[in-house]
Amino acid sequence: MQCPRCLNTNKEFFYHGSRGWYCRKCISFGRRMLEEICEPISLSTSTDGSEEYIMKYPLTRAQKEISKTCASFIKEMDVLLFCVCGAGKTELVLESIHQCLKQKKKVCFAIPRRQVVLELQQRLSSYFPNAIVVAVCGGYTDITDGDLIVCTTHQLYRYYQAFDLLILDEPDAYPFKGNPVLHGIAKTSCKGHIIYLTATPDQQLLKAVERKEIACLTLNERPHGHPLPVPVISIHTRFGMFIRLIQFLKKNQYKRIIVFVPTIRMANLLGDILKVMMDVSICTSKTANRDQIIERYRRKKSGVMIATTVLERGVTIPGVIICVYYAEHYVFDLSAQTQMAGRAGRTFEEPTGEVLFIQNERSAISEKCIAMIKEANQGCVA
Ligand SMILES: [Zn+2]
Repeated sequence: MQCPRCLNTNKEFFYHGSRGWYCRKCISFGRRMLEEICEPISLSTSTDGSEEYIMKYPLTRAQKEISKTCASFIKEMDVLLFCVCGAGKTELVLESIHQCLKQKKKVCFAIPRRQVVLELQQRLSSYFPNAIVVAVCGGYTDITDGDLIVCTTHQLYRYYQAFDLLILDEPDAYPFKGNPVLHGIAKTSCKGHIIYLTATPDQQLLKAVERKEIACLTLNERPHGHPLPVPVISIHTRFGMFIRLIQFLKKNQYKRIIVFVPTIRMANLLGDILKVMMDVSICTSKTANRDQIIERYRRKKSGVMIATTVLERGVTIPGVIICVYYAEHYVFDLSAQTQMAGRAGRTFEEPTGEVLFIQNERSAISEKCIAMIKEANQGCVA
């Protein structure tokens, strides 16, 4: 027996109710019998899809090539778009989306984190002004049908076998990462092919590429052509680490600096200490008005933002300097480190940046992260 929604096959999770079989693994997504889950949902199409998408900036030569290749591969198989942070990965799938909409096919853009959904819906609406682009996430579930659906990976349970093209953005991000139920639900929402978009694919994806089940396209270049900033490791005693941090903050006092720390407790503690000396904002998963705090920080010319990994993705602050405090801590895995370092040097105006890893001891992960960034930088033009 297999659950058609989350693909669970473990017998222990099935139970027989008064009317039929249920799967306990995904029951929190709606109490439906297995047969009921299998009923396909019907979605409407409004656009004739003949219109071209509109872009403010043209794609670079490398982006164009990948975008075209992806649109042709996706007709036959799943594709992994393995692109460095800041490569403009959303723009790379516009051609694939366009090809599908033209044939009145259903497209979904799914992202693990809710914050990004509304922003992405607006961006995609501006690229496809004639298509109905709907956002579906917590608080936005009244309208669930459109030509192009932008949703959290949690909301995919609504769309059994509904999509001809599913774009899974950042499948290595929490809470999708390592969650077999969400993985299963994503797979069963798509009757066509999937594009995985990430700078930091997990082993599972890379193995699927090795087995040639998924095509892999790599883009190691940001649109501005400058190399990715390579992190510098600085190892000290605990006290020495703090001194190093203060020196670094003083040196860059006229810039904006994000200091990533491993725990909320450390974020608050460090915030309290540094507040005496400088302008400090704090952003953790417990920060109530996170969006406003980020927006306010974005408008400043200088100042320190202390953040946990909650800020590791999706944030672009021009000219920002990055410091990772206790970079060897286990919460900073390879993907987190790469994403945090990837916040620097993202814009055309300020394409370079500085990344410092302050550590208490050596870490194989930091070294691997640096090696990977250096490798990606090989062949950069600027
Ligand atoms: Zn299930």
